[in-house]
Amino acid sequence: MSAIAKPEEAKPPSPAPSSPRQKKAYAIDTELVYTESSDQYRSSSVPIYQTATFKQDSLTNMGEYDYTRSGNPTRSHLERHMAKIMNASRALAVSSGMTAMDVIARLLKPGDEVIAGDDLYGGTNRLLKYLSTNQNIKVKHVDTTNNAAVEAVLSPNTRMVLLESPTNPLIKIVDIRGLTAAAHKRNPNAIVVVDNTMMSPLLMSPLDLGADIVYESGTKYLSGHHDIMAGVIAVNSLELGEQLFFTINASGCGLSPFDSWLLLRGVKTLAVRLEKQQSNAELIAAFLEGAGFKVRYPGLKSHPGYDLHWSMARGAGAVLSLETGSVEVSERIVEATRIWGISVSFGCVNSLISMPCKMSHASIDPKTRAERDFPEDLIRLCVGIENPYDLIEDLKIALVKAEVVTIDDEGNIHKKA
Ligand code: PLP
Repeated sequence: MSAIAKPEEAKPPSPAPSSPRQKKAYAIDTELVYTESSDQYRSSSVPIYQTATFKQDSLTNMGEYDYTRSGNPTRSHLERHMAKIMNASRALAVSSGMTAMDVIARLLKPGDEVIAGDDLYGGTNRLLKYLSTNQNIKVKHVDTTNNAAVEAVLSPNTRMVLLESPTNPLIKIVDIRGLTAAAHKRNPNAIVVVDNTMMSPLLMSPLDLGADIVYESGTKYLSGHHDIMAGVIAVNSLELGEQLFFTINASGCGLSPFDSWLLLRGVKTLAVRLEKQQSNAELIAAFLEGAGFKVRYPGLKSHPGYDLHWSMARGAGAVLSLETGSVEVSERIVEATRIWGISVSFGCVNSLISMPCKMSHASIDPKTRAERDFPEDLIRLCVGIENPYDLIEDLKIALVKAEVVTIDDEGNIHKKA
């Protein structure tokens, strides 16, 4: 018998792979790894359909896929998996977190009003500035930790409210539930958008808190290894989903098949990675606070937003920041660490240290940073999965080298007054 199967003996075409349930049936750590696929060879890992085009059955029968800009089975599989994990009716995978925000921003029309926080990710701030300068979108930055301040600027013209919690890097907690209700009350057509990158679907589900759109930079916890750029957008309204898909299809910013596959692989280990990162972060936060530093971390009872955070989220995450009282001291600490890599971004398996004013948030001008009470000496720690005591020891050495602490007879360190 010929090795080449005759058409009537050929296996059926690979069906569109999917995770059939859109809502979670199991606990999230199970759902993260559990996928179902109708792949003809029952492959354990989803195949990468590295193709730009798909042949049609006939001139009139296009089949499910025709062109990868519009759709690709590997991306579909990822999107259905993400929809399930994010408690959404539809998820869309795009080429970066900022692409996700850009696609969402295309819902706006000139003259629309956007209310956004004053401690947003620098890249989001830059995009909003561009929109306000060039597209006549009216952006109002307010302290979103203050419900009254947000309510004071909400109006029937408010088209979009953009929230992050915890904010990055000041780790402020925002009342997503309360602000969403207030925005919808003031304007039922207002779209509340939450950037959930700092929490990931493991720790918070903003759609369940009432948000209309949630997006995440997949470059961070979702993929977990800093080897791809990706973004995911999730919605419950299918109408909104179609509008967002229109832009992705029109502009061609959907995630490539290979990166979709990498993101799907990464997301399967989200729970084990982030649980370890979080338990490490708890120990490090306690160590730094015990040594006398001002530490911002929602896992610490001293955090002013502690109760609010835990009313929305299932964990404190793995990003914390501290102040040293001096820019020079902070610079010395950052440069004296060894295990902690000096890098922007977070969510990677290895630990990172940065000074946001000089790195991730440098695109916010110093005057605006000062107006927003942004401490120039702030150090951000993005905790990885290493041994926590190695991480603490490395920090201890850096603090000693930076001459900001004293060591007592028992080897404990104390911040100099
Ligand atoms: N949102 C937050 C909170 C971020 O920290 C970042 C990137 O650092 C982004 C969005 C943008 O994501 P990306 O870098 O994947 O475009």
